[in-house]
Parts: sequence; C-alpha cells; structure tokens
Amino acid sequence: SNSRIGGGEQNFTVALRIRPLTEDEILQGAHPAAHKVEDNMLVLMDPAEDPDDILRVNRSREKQFVFDVTFDGNATQSDVYESTTKFLIDNVINGYNATVFAYGATGAGKTHTMLGTDEDPGIMVQALNDLFLEMERGSEDLAYKVTMSYLEIYNEMIRDLLTPSLGYLDLREDAKGNVQVAGISEVSARSTEEVMQMLVKGNRERTQESTAANAASSRSHAILQVTVQQRNRIRTTMQEIRTGKLFLIDLAGSERAANTHNRGKRMVEGAHINRSLLALGNCINALSDKNGPRYINYRDSKLTRLLKDALGGNCKTVMIAHISPASTQFEESRNTLVYADRAKHI
Ligand code: ADP
Ligand code: MG
Repeated sequence: SNSRIGGGEQNFTVALRIRPLTEDEILQGAHPAAHKVEDNMLVLMDPAEDPDDILRVNRSREKQFVFDVTFDGNATQSDVYESTTKFLIDNVINGYNATVFAYGATGAGKTHTMLGTDEDPGIMVQALNDLFLEMERGSEDLAYKVTMSYLEIYNEMIRDLLTPSLGYLDLREDAKGNVQVAGISEVSARSTEEVMQMLVKGNRERTQESTAANAASSRSHAILQVTVQQRNRIRTTMQEIRTGKLFLIDLAGSERAANTHNRGKRMVEGAHINRSLLALGNCINALSDKNGPRYINYRDSKLTRLLKDALGGNCKTVMIAHISPASTQFEESRNTLVYADRAKHI
C-alpha cells in the first residue's frame, strides 16, 4: 500500500487516481492507455501515433508523469482517504484550514472518490467519521462542535444543496475578512449514515446537463464545508475558540466546452466552469512561485473567493486528479495530467 504522504512540511499534495476500465469502454474497443508503474509514477501511451514507426514509438508514444502518489484500479476508497486526507484532520481540529479537491473530466471518477456509495463511502464520509471519533475521544478540557454545509457553484451562482429552496446565495465578507455564504444552512450530524444520507440527497440536487459527449455531466462544483470549533471547557477570562475549516470539493468536469460541441447555453456554462477552474489554477500557480507567493487574485471567481482562507499560508491543499485508463479518453487524460503536473511544483 501507499506510504503516508503530505503529513510533514509540505503544504500542497498532488495525487492521481486511475479508475478501472468500465464495461462500456471495453465494449467500445478501448484498451488501457494509462498504467501505474510505481507508487508515484504512471505512463500514458498515445494511441494515435503510428505504431509501425519503431523509432518514434520508443521516443514519443510513452509519457511519464510523477506525482506525490498514484492510485490505480486496485486502490480502495480507504487507501485513497488514508494517503490524501486523513493527515488533515489534526490540522483542522487545531484551527487550521484545509482543502481537498477532485479534478478531472466527467466520468473520470471524481464523485466516486469524494462521495462514493453506501457500501464504499468516499472521502467526505470517511473524513467526517474521523472527526466524530476525535470529538468522542475529546479531552476533559476541550469541547468540539462540528457543523457542515453542502453547496454547489453553477454558472458562478451558489445554491445550498441541503436546502435548495433557499435559492441563490451571496458571498459576504465579515469584519475580520472571513468569507461566508450568507444564509446557508449549517447542520450538525452525528453518525456516518446520517452524513451519507444528507450528501446523497444533496448530490441529487446538483445541476446536471446532458451534452453530446456525456449523458449526464456534472457542470457544477459541489463543495462540502466542514467547520470544527474547539472550545476550552474551563471558563477563563480569555475564552479561546479555535475554528478550522475543511473544504472537500467535487469539481465540475474539466473537459472543454469545445470538445462537447456545445452551443448557446452550454457554451456559457463552459466559460463559467473554465473561469472557476482557471482561477483555481492561477491561484495554485501563484502560490508555487519560486520567489515566494505572488499576489493572488482570489476575486476572479466564486470558487476562489470562497477558498480565500483555505489556500496558501498555513493551509494544506490536496489535489486528486482523476483519469480513465481508456485509450478512447486519451486527450482528456493528457489534459488532466498536464494540469496536475503544472500544479505540483509547489
Ligand atoms: P465523475 O464524477 O468524475 O463524472 P464518477 O465518479 O461518476 O465520475 O465515475 C464514473 C463511473 O465510473 C461511475 O459509474 C463510477 O461508479 C465508476 N467509477 C469511478 N471510479 C471508480 C473506481 N475507482 N472503482 C470502480 N468504479 C469507479
Ligand atoms: Mg461526478
């Protein structure tokens, strides 16, 4: 299994998950083009290049990528959680902010990683479960309160996925400069089953649009925001409350609008999706500057505004990039690997 990563000084971790080939892909004649070759390395083969040109084959058909950790179709949900997210729990309990986001094209496995199923729950449920355990274990001196909100950003508009009837919500900045979603419902849950039920129900509220490329592609970013408040049980004149936030994000599909032959409404959607993904990419690149962090323009999108206090500084960020291994998905996989590769130099 994979060694624990990202627990030390490193503030940015890039992981890559290759899901198994689906039956549909096999029926379509796809063969595996992406292979994990080491714990942190994979190769991607270009199926379009002429296999008879022996010299070029050896030079350019294979491209290697190295990340902090690479998972293939054999990795379990708990393998992925343990190596990418578990180490953040202590940070959040101690008042620091952290972000985990799933990146990749529609169908690459983002929702499976973040939400999963009842039988095979993903990162969101596993993280909350660990937080509940910490709370129960809590010392005599400290009390914890865990609340969660689940929202989507679609076309640069924010909706509460737990209480959709609230309509579109605004971002507000309080006197201390903390960014909040005004009026969003914050719920406290106690058990894993309760959390899973809420998230599955919330996920059904996500905006889905059909495109030429995919029957139902997720055009929205789904964001689970977990807030942990730590309070001293012993009354002192200085009643200290520490607040840590954990953002767990199932990003919209990264495929470009151009690839899905979209027109009209969906072209606008594509532009908005790219705007948030681009802004996120720009923030990450600014953080990775060798001469120290450059000025970061969080205001460029709703997503980056919301994450203003959770990217950079003492915050830990984990990107889990997702690809299908299928030769038929080569272009999307390459785009995703290049995006993730650019992010890892932090
Ligand atoms: P995305 O959210 O990126 O659009 P999904 O998570 O919905 O993609 O995955 C697409 C399909 O592949 C789903 O049917 C899902 O159950 C399946 N799948 C994704 N990742 C895995 C995995 N690691 N193991 C088994 N099946 C997976
Ligand atoms: Mg999805």
